[in-house]
Amino acid sequence: MKEFDLIGNYFAKGGYVRKDVLLGIGDDAAVTKVPAGQCVVTTTDTIVEGVHFLPQTAPESIAHRAIAVNLSDLAAMGAQPAWISLSLSLPSINESWLKAFSEKIHSLSHYFSFQLIGGDTVQGPLSITVTAQGFIPDDNQITRSGAEPGDWLFVTGSLGDAGVGLDLLQNKITVSNPEHASYLKNRHWFPTPRVLAGTTLRRIATSCIDISDGLIQDLKHVISRSEVGAIVHLDKLPISEAITKNIENGIDAITYAATAGDDYELLFTVPEEQRVHIETALASYNIPVTRIGQITGATGKIDLRLNQKPFEFESRKLGFEHFS
Ligand code: ADP
Ligand code: MG
Repeated sequence: MKEFDLIGNYFAKGGYVRKDVLLGIGDDAAVTKVPAGQCVVTTTDTIVEGVHFLPQTAPESIAHRAIAVNLSDLAAMGAQPAWISLSLSLPSINESWLKAFSEKIHSLSHYFSFQLIGGDTVQGPLSITVTAQGFIPDDNQITRSGAEPGDWLFVTGSLGDAGVGLDLLQNKITVSNPEHASYLKNRHWFPTPRVLAGTTLRRIATSCIDISDGLIQDLKHVISRSEVGAIVHLDKLPISEAITKNIENGIDAITYAATAGDDYELLFTVPEEQRVHIETALASYNIPVTRIGQITGATGKIDLRLNQKPFEFESRKLGFEHFS
């Protein structure tokens, strides 16, 4: 099958269609129209087999993660997803793989109302690059740089699940309860981008980041860009029952929650005046949210506490970095 058939058979049809796309897949480039009063937010992320997902990962999970990591970046800016472009590097043409992969992309496009507007397809090692674009009303983006001393530190959802799920898949740990095991693996395979939380945080959060590398690692980006410090109460971190019931040692569970990556929850800061407002707004959408600490004036310092006492992790546990 030629590249042209592949695009026509799997990518050109079946996805969500938007009115602001004047020309989608099939020409030399896509043409889109930005609604009046909106700004475009653009992000790109690549996932590579063996680096970001295990060899033999199901195509549904690869598609989901390629889209989710990008929508999560849009969510962290407060943006509503609109357009996606997909660059695929495939070792060979496998029709059942392509069918499952493309159907997952299309189903996400309907769920999140984005349109797949183009891409590229080449032969090479399995790797997927997605560019996602979304809208925010003029100047309402939420950056990493607006946190102020006194602001409360919040996270959505629960932390550590994807990291435990990955360790399970690699047989580094065992979880005897099968429902808990499948929940944890699914949190790794199918992370939920917090799109609705992100748009709800506009004009309320002073800063926001999505947790891709681990809570502490990503908090470092916020405090450095905002030129502030932070206190984190490790005993307050939201940890799922699937972890607490199966990881016996409380410190191990907290270590996953504080340092494991790939949860794609949002970490954000809110001034005291907006605290009740945001807790109520997110609760009304059934989005779990937990207050885990506070921003301080101690620039560059993350003050970790466990039951009020100072706590330190071994430095090797503090997050994943490429090229390290
Ligand atoms: P060109 O060689 O001019 O770049 P291509 O043959 O690569 O064109 O692509 C033809 C059309 O198919 C373009 O609209 C392109 O955006 C789209 N396309 C190519 N690969 C993909 C893909 N993996 N997913 C979605 N659209 C794609
Ligand atoms: Mg091409």
